[in-house]
Amino acid sequence: MTNTIATQTNSQPYNLEEWKRGYDSQPNEYEYEITEIEGKIPVELSGTLFRNGPGLLDIAGEPIHHPFDGDGMISAFYFKDGQAYFRSRFVQTEAFVKEQDAGQILHRGVFGTQKPGGLFNNIFDLKLKNIANTGVIYWGGKLLALWEAAEPHRLDPQTLETIGIDYLDGVLSPGDAFSAHPWIDPSCKFDDGAPCLVNFRVDPGLSSKITLFEFAPDGQLLRRHAHSIPGFSFIHDFIITPDYAIFFQNPVNFNPLPFLLGMRGAGECVEFQPQKPTKVILIPRDPNNQEIKTFRVESGFVFHHANAFEQNNCIVIDSIAYQSLPQVQPNTNYKEVNFDNLDPGQLWRFKLNLEDGTVAREMLESRCCEFPTHNPSLVGREYRYLYIGAAPNDTGRNAPLQAILKLDLETGARELHSFAPSGYVSEPIFVPKPNGEEEDAGWVMTLIYDGSKHRSTLAILDGENLAGEAIALLHLKHHIPYGLHGSWCDEVFS
Ligand code: FE
Repeated sequence: MTNTIATQTNSQPYNLEEWKRGYDSQPNEYEYEITEIEGKIPVELSGTLFRNGPGLLDIAGEPIHHPFDGDGMISAFYFKDGQAYFRSRFVQTEAFVKEQDAGQILHRGVFGTQKPGGLFNNIFDLKLKNIANTGVIYWGGKLLALWEAAEPHRLDPQTLETIGIDYLDGVLSPGDAFSAHPWIDPSCKFDDGAPCLVNFRVDPGLSSKITLFEFAPDGQLLRRHAHSIPGFSFIHDFIITPDYAIFFQNPVNFNPLPFLLGMRGAGECVEFQPQKPTKVILIPRDPNNQEIKTFRVESGFVFHHANAFEQNNCIVIDSIAYQSLPQVQPNTNYKEVNFDNLDPGQLWRFKLNLEDGTVAREMLESRCCEFPTHNPSLVGREYRYLYIGAAPNDTGRNAPLQAILKLDLETGARELHSFAPSGYVSEPIFVPKPNGEEEDAGWVMTLIYDGSKHRSTLAILDGENLAGEAIALLHLKHHIPYGLHGSWCDEVFS
């Protein structure tokens, strides 16, 4: 299909020089009504889309080593009466404020950003910079910017001003981790069918402690329980069913010495062990049930899960897996990437048999893909439609995500909405239509970096007719660097 963002003709599906500019810092904060719109914003669309991601890829001109070390910037799109208002603000973390005041890098980043001054200025500096750049969610009356290795930051949902670190009414203590990947169980069996927010933290070590948290809609803690599992864990995401919280313990080695010695970031000391199996850990959500089940499967490396559900005596899990994962290396530039040399993320289905402990797996999608989503009313439930960022062509290799793919998991049918050659998509977010009856009756929103114009556009696609023309393209006046995760909230706040 054609799209107004894709204005170039190009023998390649993408232009690497254009792609790189999506990693330019965006030092400015904005607020304005979006007026450059192709198509029409649906009048019934009412609520706020929040997104998080690194806003700065340099500190005072000094490039950071990896985008995951970039200071978090929240973008908000407020929809009401067929109109949209945009606002963006940096999360005013303590480290961000200090570094902006000082005009230089003062902190080591987890992914290899080092302070100036070489080894002796970095050795034994183990303080993590809480950069609040990964996820954002509105829950319990609070807007929270999330970063998995430290506490959330609370922001005003209307102005996006930073209120400060939030300990969730005493649930967290200073320095506690809190994952950037919470799930909302739409109908919790332990709470008479009320929704609840489920999240976790990992304290890694020779054995790892996983703590599960479940919160009521008013923010009150409902359940918290901790479990020790053998081995070091690098766990970014998890997935839930009505009965279980499920974790993939990827096979990794962690050699902390280069980090302790100031030579590498902590994230650069994690080494993937592709020849070893992944452990899939099922922790019962019922705090009175302590029976953890562990399965072993050849999976590759998994960052993100799409969904999971219980089916007879099986647990079905859909996840994005990479056959191999290059280690983040010092002295390399993340922008000088050769996509062809990297394994793609691919969508796999794992079926855990609770009776005999076996795992069957099948690849559902070989095309390079990442950032899955689906109708939020089916989190942890059997579902049919999955939406995911994808390469526009199925080459079997890694490539920039330039399209949104819809998979019908029942029939295998696929629909693709491509923004190639100049559009680079972010995580899609599915917003159900009010009173929509079909599972795919909703809007699929994705923020696109348009390399030909060096600006970003929010696309609103039709969940039922994904390949059809976009319902609306909302052009921003500027670019937003490639982001990570976002969420939808039915409140408007302005
Ligand atoms: Fe993530």
